[in-house]
Amino acid sequence: MESKYFMHTVNRVPVTLVRGKGARVWDDNGREYLDFVAGWAVNSLGHCHPVVAKALAEQARTLIQVSNQFYTVPQLQMAELLVQHSCLDKIFVSNSGAEANEGAVKLARRYGKRHLNGAYEVISANGSFHGRTLCMVAATGQAKHQDPYKPLPAGFINVEYNNVAAIKSATTDQTCAVMLEPLQGEGGVNIPDDDYLKKVRKWCDEKGILLILDEIQTGIGRLGTLFAYEQYGVEPDIMTLAKGLGSGVPIGVIMVKESANVFEPGDHGSTFGGNPLVCAAACATLKYIIDNKVADNAKKVGRYFLGRLEGLKKKHGVIADVRGRGLLLAVEFNREIAADMLQACLENGLLVNRLNPSTLRFMPPLIIANGEVAEAINILDKALLAI
Ligand SMILES: *Cc1c(COP(=O)(O)O)cnc(C)c1O
Repeated sequence: MESKYFMHTVNRVPVTLVRGKGARVWDDNGREYLDFVAGWAVNSLGHCHPVVAKALAEQARTLIQVSNQFYTVPQLQMAELLVQHSCLDKIFVSNSGAEANEGAVKLARRYGKRHLNGAYEVISANGSFHGRTLCMVAATGQAKHQDPYKPLPAGFINVEYNNVAAIKSATTDQTCAVMLEPLQGEGGVNIPDDDYLKKVRKWCDEKGILLILDEIQTGIGRLGTLFAYEQYGVEPDIMTLAKGLGSGVPIGVIMVKESANVFEPGDHGSTFGGNPLVCAAACATLKYIIDNKVADNAKKVGRYFLGRLEGLKKKHGVIADVRGRGLLLAVEFNREIAADMLQACLENGLLVNRLNPSTLRFMPPLIIANGEVAEAINILDKALLAI
């Protein structure tokens, strides 16, 4: 049915998932898998967490959507939670990560019009990932995402990641913002130097331009703190969130400091964005993460996971590198065996993500325990031996 009815935009793993609970999912043959993909870093609390299921069910019986002409309570509660627990002051709710980033760039251009003589260019990094819309493809510094769609929208400049000098030399009087991931997820789990973001922040301050942090993958506890910027000692002017925020309902958020809060009525909008159903799920997710210190768990279990991966590296010469922070980790092989490894893991009951031909990425639910990581390590070990 898939090949008959679907555009072929993704090479799927030949498994039909029908049910999930915690860090585990089941296929249509009743086979159980440990899920270290978690919807691409989306299912922070695992699958169908009771507090999220309850919030969704109750909200679905109460009010699912009204237009943004009206106030709704879940939207206000989510905004309060996000603002109280971050360094930013105001939010806008959209439906996905790419859409939040689009809005962030619109906001930066609006700021450029008002405060920077119409400056509109956004500097982003090679190896980045900011989404699939045309503008975000232009911001995403990867040929495979850009080349099929050229000509790209104007106003995006891609420079080397983890290189402050490259940002400095790309900055002109047309620059309104620098847009970066605190740690590149889809581009390879690339960790910048500890002082990179601090230096970029300083440069943005000197030039009076905005720093946009795309925390769509790194935010909401994934790296072991509620937001990744906390670990780098910087505060962004604009931050975008999505993946881990809603436990799987489609949601994206733009957050901004008061100093860059330049949108006016009519400047931006959304039909579905911030509807009560998704905001109820996001509120439940956020409250649970904050109240139960789930980010601390990600930090603790992430350290254990990285240590165990380093153990595998000592044992298996085919592993070239292991890296990551919190529960966003990668193993890079010195041969192109990622697809074979994915298959071998699948056969042994572990779901992993193939990032590129020689790299696997792990982004399990943030609520997992060391025991589940140990289980995954045993499966990886077995797969490596078999291959
Ligand atoms: C996934 C991702 C996006 C795009 O989010 P969508 O919801 O798929 O549009 C943007 N930026 C980063 C860093 C991401 O990981």
